Amino acid sequence: MGKALVIVGAGAAGGSVAAEAKRSDPGLSVTMIEQGPHVATAA
Ligand SMILES: Cc1cc2nc3c(=O)[nH]c(=O)nc-3n(C[C@H](O)[C@H](O)[C@H](O)COP(=O)(O)OP(=O)(O)OC[C@H]3O[C@@H](n4cnc5c(N)ncnc54)[C@H](O)[C@@H]3O)c2cc1C
Repeated sequence: MGKALVIVGAGAAGGSVAAEAKRSDPGLSVTMIEQGPHVATAA
């Protein structure tokens, strides 16, 4: 099983972390959990 990253909060910081993590390790499984109705669209 590969590595997995779970990010709580899909605001600017969460989106930036997700994008950078996938750039560094494209095979990484990234899951973002957001309590609100919107997520960041620029990272
Ligand atoms: C009124 C106002 C106006 C602003 N205007 C500007 C602007 O014009 N330009 C600019 O550059 N910046 C602006 N900012 C600042 C900008 O909004 C913040 O710097 C930026 O949003 C911070 O990003 P963040 O990801 O750290 O936090 P947040 O944007 O707060 O993201 C955190 C996310 O985590 C989620 N979350 C929290 N707890 C949980 C949980 N337990 N489970 C799941 N999800 C969770 C929240 O719902 C939220 O979506 C403004 C801020 C405010 C308050």
